[in-house]
Amino acid sequence: MGVGWPAAPLRVVLVAGVTFTVPTPIPDPSPLQGEGGNGMPMTTPALRAALLAWYDAAARTLPWRAPPGSGRRTDPYFVWLSEVMLQQTTVPHATPYFLSFTQRWPTVSDLAAAPDAEVMAAWAGLGYYARARNLLACARAVAAEHGGVFPDTEEGLRALPGVGAYTAAAVAAIAFDREANVVDGNVERVMSRLFAVEAPMPDSKPVLKALAGELVTAHRPGDWAQALMDLGATVCRPKSPLCDRCPVSAFCAALARGDPESFPRKTKKADRPRRYGVAYLLTRDAEVALVRRPPKGLLGGMLGLPTSDWRGHPWAAEEARAAAPVAADWHDAGEIDHVFTHFSLTLRVFRAEGAMEAEWTAREGLGALPSVFLKAAKAGLGRLV
Ligand code: SF4
Repeated sequence: MGVGWPAAPLRVVLVAGVTFTVPTPIPDPSPLQGEGGNGMPMTTPALRAALLAWYDAAARTLPWRAPPGSGRRTDPYFVWLSEVMLQQTTVPHATPYFLSFTQRWPTVSDLAAAPDAEVMAAWAGLGYYARARNLLACARAVAAEHGGVFPDTEEGLRALPGVGAYTAAAVAAIAFDREANVVDGNVERVMSRLFAVEAPMPDSKPVLKALAGELVTAHRPGDWAQALMDLGATVCRPKSPLCDRCPVSAFCAALARGDPESFPRKTKKADRPRRYGVAYLLTRDAEVALVRRPPKGLLGGMLGLPTSDWRGHPWAAEEARAAAPVAADWHDAGEIDHVFTHFSLTLRVFRAEGAMEAEWTAREGLGALPSVFLKAAKAGLGRLV
């Protein structure tokens, strides 16, 4: 595949006070060097033309959508209702609810006039009842304050109860063909791959939104938004993207690198911190010395082996012997690892014969110990427990 785009120089963009380095987005209208795999010049218009042509031919048929080229405009009530429903479920699950709502309440004014209990009952199964309450509040605001007509700008829509930035942009673009930047999780994923954005999520959200915004123009903004949504939902899927069927594969920096599925990058979960301690296994014939831990704190009130402090760096053998609960001929008996919720622990086990004030417990009784101490006891006793 002849991919010219990824060879483009990197540029630094500043979004919300944070700088990101991304491949140079397609300049508009001057082409980048070279051509895409389909022989098209690597430009914003070429990318847009490829995706819109695909949308014209392969748009999903959805009950709230006016098909591309139909000359019809999508009803803003339909767009709004479907977007609210789709915020919490999939297209197949939302579709029967959408059909039942619009059959029962064909306009936003009909919905506004419906009794709360009926709407809540119809919403049952979609979950998040706060959304249903917001839905009614919004419908009533449109009916009472706007004569049953949805505002036709992002700003006007955003002022309605319960309408967030995404829904306002989606309704403005799809229903009113406004030049709105409609960015949901699907679009973020597509942008992260098209531009091979290395910054991890969620910090990269502003830059992904800015990159998506650079591709929006006054030409068919509603279809553009829906084309991107369809691409993300059906082709540029989270797992196993169908790059061989993708209309914009020639423009895709992640595909050119050979690892599209690794985008969007995610913040690596911080490694658990590791602590180090010493456990002392003091035996007297067939018994082991146990001590009760302080009532507060980790394993509070439980019986366990005597230990040193648990700290951020390992214990040297001499240090470990010096910290022992009693003087004895302590032998190093190896290490065990244990993972707690918030940290990992390496316990170095020392064993000796001796006497001390303790709860002396027969080896057979050690099975009731917390697992970290059972591991340490097994290590010290040569797994004879
Ligand atoms: S080529 Fe693959 S990774 Fe790139 S946009 Fe298309 S489906 Fe997504």
